[in-house]
Amino acid sequence: DVFYRELPKVELHAHLNGSVSFQTIEKLLKRKPHLNIEHSMTAIGKGQRRTLDECFQVFKVIHQLVDTEEDILMVAIDVIKEFAADGVKYLELRSTPRAEKKTGLTKKGYIETVIKAIQQCKNEGVDIDVRFLVAIDRRNGTEVAMETVELAEEFMLSSHGVVVGLDLSGDPTVGHGRDLLPALQRAKNCGLKLSLHLSEVQSQLEETDLLLNLPPDRIGHGTFMHPEVGGSQSVVDKVIKNNIPLELCLTSNVKGQTVLNYSKHHFKYWYQLGHPSVICTDDKGVFCTDLSQEYQLAASTFGLSREAVWTLSQQAIDCIFAPEAVKQQLRQKWTELHSQLF
Ligand code: 5GP
Repeated sequence: DVFYRELPKVELHAHLNGSVSFQTIEKLLKRKPHLNIEHSMTAIGKGQRRTLDECFQVFKVIHQLVDTEEDILMVAIDVIKEFAADGVKYLELRSTPRAEKKTGLTKKGYIETVIKAIQQCKNEGVDIDVRFLVAIDRRNGTEVAMETVELAEEFMLSSHGVVVGLDLSGDPTVGHGRDLLPALQRAKNCGLKLSLHLSEVQSQLEETDLLLNLPPDRIGHGTFMHPEVGGSQSVVDKVIKNNIPLELCLTSNVKGQTVLNYSKHHFKYWYQLGHPSVICTDDKGVFCTDLSQEYQLAASTFGLSREAVWTLSQQAIDCIFAPEAVKQQLRQKWTELHSQLF
C-alpha cells in the first residue's frame, strides 16, 4: 500500500547485519563463492518460522559474509539507501563492532567504516538522517562490554553527533545483565543513550527489573514484561514511571516465535496504555520485511486508522536519541508531508 511507503517514518531498532537485503546478500555471495552459503541460510521467508536460537545461527552466517571494511561499507550504504527508499527519514542503525584476524578488520575500523558509509550517503544527498548505536553482544561478557563502551565513548566525542548511544543485544539466554551493569552505568554517565534488549524471553524478568534501575533510555522488545505473559506489575510500573519508550518489532517476534501470532503481540498492551511504542523492523533482511510493511501490519492487526498510524509515526520522533534541534527539524518535515498524504 502506497500510503505506508509514503508515510514519513522513524526507524529506531535496526541491526546492521540483520538488515542486509536479498540483493546485497547476492553481491556478497559473489565476493565469497568459496563459503558455499545459500540465501535460505541468511533469511527467513514468508510463512517460515525459526526458534530464537536458529535466528542467532543466521547472524553467524551473515557475519561470515561481512568480514572486511569493504563489505561493511557496501552493506551499510545499501541498508541506508533501502531505508530511505522505504520512506524512513530518520534512522538509528546499531551494530556490534567485530574484529576479524583473517582480514585484519579491527573494531575501531569497523565503527569508522559505518560512520564513513553514513557520511557518504549524506554527501550524496540521500534524504535520511542516520545515527549510530554501538552494540554490546552480551555473549562476550564483562570485559568486552567495558571495552565497547570505551570505544563508543571515543566515537561519541569524535563523530560529530553520529554516534549517539549504546545497544545491548545478543542471545538473551546467554549471560546475565548484572555482569554488564558497570559498563552500562559508565556509558550512561558519559552521555551515551542506552537502548537495551529486555525480556525477550520469559526467564529474564529479574534481569529486566535490575537493568530498569539504570534506567535505560529505550527498551528493545520487552516481550515478557507485563503480567499477562508472566511479567510483573512492578516492572510495568517502572517502565511507565520513567516513561521509557519501547521498540516493537512484530514480524521479528512472530518469526522468532517469542510471540504466538500478530494479534497477541505486546504492541496491543502498551499501545492501549498510551505508552510510547515505536514500530521497528529489527532485522529487515533476515525477517524479509521493511518498515512500511510493519506499520501496515500493526494497522491491520490492531485496527488503526490512517490518522492513528500517522500519529504513531510522528510520536516516534519524541523517542530518538539525537538532540532536540533534530527533533524540531523532523517535526517540521512531518508537518510539510502531512498535507501531501491526507
Ligand atoms: P550486527 O550487530 O552484527 O550488525 O547485527 C547482528 C547482531 O545483532 C546479532 O549477532 C545479535 O547480536 C543482534 N541481534 C539481531 N537481532 C536480534 C534480536 O532479535 N535479539 C537480540 N537479542 N539480538 C539481536
